[in-house]
Amino acid sequence: MSDSAAAGAERLTEADIRQLIQDIVGGEPDVPDYGSTVLSLEDMRAQVQREQHLVDSELRSKDPAFVMTDGGVRRVHAQSCFHVRHVIDREEAWRYVLAGPCRVRDLGFVQKMPKILNRTEVEALNSYVTCQACSPTLDHTRKVWSINAGKPMRSVSFGVHHIGREIFTPDGGSLGVLVSHQRTIVEAGVRSITVTSETTIEGDGSEMYVVAPKD
Ligand SMILES: [Zn+2]
Repeated sequence: MSDSAAAGAERLTEADIRQLIQDIVGGEPDVPDYGSTVLSLEDMRAQVQREQHLVDSELRSKDPAFVMTDGGVRRVHAQSCFHVRHVIDREEAWRYVLAGPCRVRDLGFVQKMPKILNRTEVEALNSYVTCQACSPTLDHTRKVWSINAGKPMRSVSFGVHHIGREIFTPDGGSLGVLVSHQRTIVEAGVRSITVTSETTIEGDGSEMYVVAPKD
């Protein structure tokens, strides 16, 4: 996966942006108009400060704290790792927007808030991998959810409730998180396109995968 794809996965969705605008303008009961709401630099800076305060207090309350970015495989970092600096430092996470003309649509470039977990919370995840750069001290370097507990299913049976869950080959190879699945009828039969955070697989729909349970 390229760096830009990894960064893209951490960017805000439209629903996140609406929530963010609501946070910035003070939580009005009506959702502000996405297109015409004007945000001042001061209001945005206040939001950045709120986010930084939240991150700092979580880091303090979970010592040692482990950090995951939102999107893709669950890669766990030590809080000092340079790979998570751009999400822990909220000024950095907002850099593009704060430097620009404060357009609402640029909020999509804000990096999502990090997930900050203590050791017990990390070990309770059904799967994770540790970052090779900062190698946080945990029970596993690669914890794979017990694949034997799940029955393989054909890709044509994927539904919306499988989106966002980690998927594996039947022999336990991680394919990342399911992003989308498309099936179309073609002359030769079914064309099935499975997109994960790590790869894209095309087939006739008979490809088998194991889907991890929801956490
Ligand atoms: Zn790291």
